[in-house]
Amino acid sequence: MSKQVYNFGAGPAMLPVPVMQQIQEEFLNFQGLGISLIELSHRSKEFEAVINACDALVRDLSNLPENYKILYTHGGAQMQFAGVPLNLLGLKPAHKAVYSETGNFSKLANKEAARYGDIIIASSSADTNYDRIPAFTADMIPADASYAYITSNNTIYGTRYHKYPELGDTPLAIDATSDIFSRPIDWSRVSLMFAGLQKNLGPSGTAVVIVREDLIGHALEKTPSLMDYAVYEKSHSLANTNNTFAIYTMGLVLQWIKDQGGLAAIEKVNEQKAASLYSVIDNSDFYTGTAHPDHRSIMNVTFTLPDEELTAAFLKEALENGLYALKGHRNVGGIRASIYNAMPLAGCEALADFMQSFESKNG
Ligand SMILES: *Cc1c(COP(=O)(O)O)cnc(C)c1O
Repeated sequence: MSKQVYNFGAGPAMLPVPVMQQIQEEFLNFQGLGISLIELSHRSKEFEAVINACDALVRDLSNLPENYKILYTHGGAQMQFAGVPLNLLGLKPAHKAVYSETGNFSKLANKEAARYGDIIIASSSADTNYDRIPAFTADMIPADASYAYITSNNTIYGTRYHKYPELGDTPLAIDATSDIFSRPIDWSRVSLMFAGLQKNLGPSGTAVVIVREDLIGHALEKTPSLMDYAVYEKSHSLANTNNTFAIYTMGLVLQWIKDQGGLAAIEKVNEQKAASLYSVIDNSDFYTGTAHPDHRSIMNVTFTLPDEELTAAFLKEALENGLYALKGHRNVGGIRASIYNAMPLAGCEALADFMQSFESKNG
């Protein structure tokens, strides 16, 4: 047996062990067919059952209203930085959208969108290095805007919207790549949610887009077919050969979430996991949290040590103790612990213990 390693990497991130075991067990012989899932036609009835099961779990777990469609799109999360404007700007003649800039990924998203329309950055926390969520309110949205856009959890900076903003009738699009299905979703405030799978749902390279059906069918004329939501909807995401392995894995991960008791139950565990780390930070003069306490993420916990030398020693010793991939993003420095759904409470407790012992030796 190899020793227990906890993977705190930001993404691709750890997956639930039982999911990977099931994949391994049925890898060479899927459902008695004698072939692997990755050798199976995307048009077979067996794969149809796989994608249908994944859809059903999305609906069941998140209480998704009937009038939302589930699309499995190519190119990961960042392809949707173009996908969202290409599909939604056409909702109104001004081709205008309003963004809240809360970190690197929302900045990349508004830059990409600006290639296709008139993009307003109405709210930003850039001047405090994105350490908080700035106010984003209905009065910031002009009447001729096609949509508003937020990043629900800021993976690099360790902040999140505790609640989605209330923006009236303007459709709200959310990049939820780093916190989708980590907590219940209030669909009354969400018109479109997308997420790359690699943090909370499965392997990289594919995204899920969950979108209200009246927003489909307005793509700008130049939109590539394989980015047009209407093409995905009509073909059940099988206009061409999709990433069958990613969709299959996502279904298994969702079943695992259901087995944990669903989104409300997993949110409770996630809160507990995050609290175990934040309490060490808050009770220490050695560690400094980088996110404003009112806006802290429960998926990415970011903090710094007194200097670079101690940070390097921390990372080295952590690795020797089976605590993997804790280096913070270069924009923030220090340490980042990514603790998505699949990270068990025991992993966070192991890190909390390590932090305390490292502080008592070096503080
Ligand atoms: C990781 C991440 C992305 C990037 O995802 P890709 O699949 O690599 O494009 C985008 N947005 C957020 C919020 C992320 O955390």
